[in-house]
This record gives sequence, structure tokens and C-alpha cells, in this order.
Amino acid sequence: MKAVITGGAGFIGSHLCDHLVAQGHEVIVLDDLSTGSLSNLSQLEGSTAFRFVQGDILDRELVDELVAEADAVFHLAAAVGVYNIVDNPLRSLRINLHGTENVVEAAVKHRVPYMIASTSEVYGKNDADGLKENDDRIYGSPTKSRWSYAAAKGLDELVAYVHGVESGVPCVITRFFNVVGPRQTGRYGMVVPRFVDQALSNEPITVYGTGTQRRCFGSVYDVVPTLTRLMDTPEAYNRAVNLGGREEISIKGLADRVVQLTGSTSAITYVDYEQAYGEGYEDMQRRYPDTSLAARLIGYEPTRDLNDIIDSIVQHRRSAHSVPEPV
Ligand code: UDP
Repeated sequence: MKAVITGGAGFIGSHLCDHLVAQGHEVIVLDDLSTGSLSNLSQLEGSTAFRFVQGDILDRELVDELVAEADAVFHLAAAVGVYNIVDNPLRSLRINLHGTENVVEAAVKHRVPYMIASTSEVYGKNDADGLKENDDRIYGSPTKSRWSYAAAKGLDELVAYVHGVESGVPCVITRFFNVVGPRQTGRYGMVVPRFVDQALSNEPITVYGTGTQRRCFGSVYDVVPTLTRLMDTPEAYNRAVNLGGREEISIKGLADRVVQLTGSTSAITYVDYEQAYGEGYEDMQRRYPDTSLAARLIGYEPTRDLNDIIDSIVQHRRSAHSVPEPV
């Protein structure tokens, strides 16, 4: 198979490239390198199964041209990271709305099966014990910039879903719950690489708010192999599927765990949300996935616990960079 991966130079996209090439597939990456990086793909340099195209998903013609030659499209390009969304609201909105529309329209036009990456953000402030795919969304005001990401991703799902139903072209929608692992950068807000980098430099670990907010982190190594399996599973078409981990932890608990696993001397410091993200920011207090649909469809069962995930990031940081990334 020849696959187009939008956002293939990003964190999850680059792991998907590795996975597909290892399985004997050909990969074309379309990425504008806004938050992704060529260093995420350096291991594929020189491979005849791999081609990199630097470009923007807002470029309809380019998207159409690449999708026309593909057997499958994995759409992972997006404006991501809370800092990025809050700092560049208009550009983020345009990429996440129109970029996805371009990719889906090209896939449907050329009848190429497509997967679009959505997010647990679509559930908003719903803090149910085990969010199920059909659960309600609870959002704050659209003028609070955090919600623009959730709103855009919700519309992306709708665009993908309606096109999938009307065209009959296979469509898979995945909702990632705080997927983390090596190559994720903390530059745009993601908490685990930030805490790891702070711990490795023995600098204060910045817990935002009270640290009682809870998350459940999933491993990129558990999630990535499921993407091709979902594409091969007709019962998975035209529905959203949650993907994530099992272990729930408070952000203060995460900070403690990172300190413990790295043997760091970092202290923990508390930072107001306003100071971290600017005025009017709202956080989600809890986000925990029910992944029983993925289990039923493809036998999804996460195998890496939080310690494994943190260890893999620590190892990567220690080997890839002699100095941790600035955060
Ligand atoms: N967070 C934190 N310190 C940081 C970065 C993030 O305490 O340096 C918090 C953030 O406010 C949120 C949680 O960690 O409560 C997860 O943040 P992230 O941006 O990784 O994911 P999301 O908010 O999308 O779940």
C-alpha cells in the first residue's frame, strides 16, 4: 500500500511512518514543519519506501495531487498544543477546519480510504468516569480560545463522518486521549515531555492550577499499530473510536512520579492558569477514556503503563539530546 500521512513529521505521524515502512508499505509525508520536525524522520532518510513533501494542508491542489496517488490517507496534520492554539487562534482554526476539509474532500474524490485524528478534547468538560464515544460534549464559551480546538475537531469529525456515509469511502475517526511518547515536544504545552525536561535539568516542575486535575496517558506504541487495523475493519467505519491508556493520575501525582523515576532534585512549583496560558483559560478537571469499543473492534489492549511511558521518554531525551529541550 502507498499511504499519505499528513503531519507525518509530527510526534504521532512519525511513529506511524516507522510502523508502515516496517510493515513493507510506501509512505508519502505531507508536513509544513510548523510543529513537526525532520529530525523525527531522520531514521527513514534514504529509504526508497519514503518520500517527504514540505507543504500545507490548506494547499488544496497539493493535497489533491498527493491523495490521488495513494491507497490510504492518514490525516494527522493539525495545529496542536494548548500554547499554539491560544497564541495563534485564527491560523489554528483555519488549519483544523479547512485543512481537514481539503484532505477529506480529496480522499472522497479519489475514493481513497481515510483516517482522521480527533481528540479527547471533543468531550470538553465532561468528566464522566470512562468517556464513551457517544457521550455529550460540554464546552465553555466559544470566545475562550481553548474551546476553538475542541469545536474545530468536532466539526472535523462531522465532515469526515458525513462524507464517509454519503460516499461509501471507508472513513475512520480516532479520538486520542493524551497520547505521549518519545519525540513529543513540550514546546507547545504537552505536560509529560515538559515535566521530563524540567526534571532532567533539575529545574522546578511547573504544575498548573492545583495539580488535582486528572489525566490518563496513552502510549504512542500502543496507539499507532491500531490505526492500520481500524482501517482494515469495516465495522470501524463512520464512527469515532477512543484510543488511550488505563492509568489515571493527577498532574501533581505525575510530577512526583517523574521526579521519582528520573532521580531528579527538582522542586514542584504551582503556577496559576492565567500566568501559564493567559486570561480566561479553562482546564478540564478529568478525562478518562472508555476504550471498550476499540477492544471489541480490534482487540485493543494497552500494554505500556505510565512508568514504561515515562521511562521511554527519559531514555529518548537522554540519548537524542545531550541537553534537554528548553521548555
Ligand atoms: N500542565 C501542567 N504543567 C505544564 C503543562 C501542562 O501542569 O507545564 C497541565 C495542564 O494544565 C493540564 C495537564 O497538565 O491540566 C495536561 O496538559 P496537556 O497540555 O498535556 O494536555 P491536555 O490539557 O490537552 O489534556
